[in-house]
Amino acid sequence: MSLLEVHDLNVSYGGIKAVRGISLEIAAGELVCLIGANGAGKSTTLKALARLLPASGKILYQGRSIVQMPVYDLVRQGIALVPEGRGIFGRLKVEENLLMGAYSRSDIHGIRRDLDHSYHLFPRLFERKTQQAGTLSGGEQQMLAIARALMSRPRLLLLDEPSMGLAPLMVNKIFDTIRAISADGVTILLVEQNARLALDVSHRAYVMEGGTICLSGEASTLLDDPQVRHAYLGE
Ligand code: ATP
Repeated sequence: MSLLEVHDLNVSYGGIKAVRGISLEIAAGELVCLIGANGAGKSTTLKALARLLPASGKILYQGRSIVQMPVYDLVRQGIALVPEGRGIFGRLKVEENLLMGAYSRSDIHGIRRDLDHSYHLFPRLFERKTQQAGTLSGGEQQMLAIARALMSRPRLLLLDEPSMGLAPLMVNKIFDTIRAISADGVTILLVEQNARLALDVSHRAYVMEGGTICLSGEASTLLDDPQVRHAYLGE
């Protein structure tokens, strides 16, 4: 059974139809990316899946519809979003931000263990754990946003544009971590402008254009597809 199944998803901003009847599915343990040009509807899709935008259609998570589920329940059920722009609490310390990610949990020892795991994954955050999060660099804030999402122990991690605004070295570091999180067994849906990076790290991909899915398949197959190479990889 798929962990996430989406059928005929539609999302509009007033009269503008941003997502037009898309369907997709993700099996447990997969790393799947959603790529496509600016304005194709990738982020809108992710926000609708995280229930931050109203949508019509079916969204099944672990076989159950989540269309009516309150957002706080989604987190309890194991869905976590790392939003575009990161959304960290700038005035709180790094460690306080991480603990905010565990707000839906009460297993103190598990939380402590996961905090240690965050610091293991991102030593930079350990070095800066008492620093105000707003003073971190963009890359460090991205690390914090990912680590904070992991603190809710997600089964499904939704990542929106993790490379945005970051220097290439930092981007590589973030993508190495995404690989490691996937290898740990977390299922990931990644929205990413940088199609090459996204295809390099993913098992499968969906390509969006004008609010629809125009192509999908194994990431390695799409990397070799002349049409994809021309339209999305700038070759
Ligand atoms: P990008 O990488 O540029 O964010 P995207 O593929 O994620 O691209 P979306 O941000 O989902 O695209 O945008 C899809 C469409 O919806 C675009 O036409 C965009 O202009 C429109 N749109 C996005 N957000 C809003 C909003 N808050 N109000 C009105 N229209 C919006």
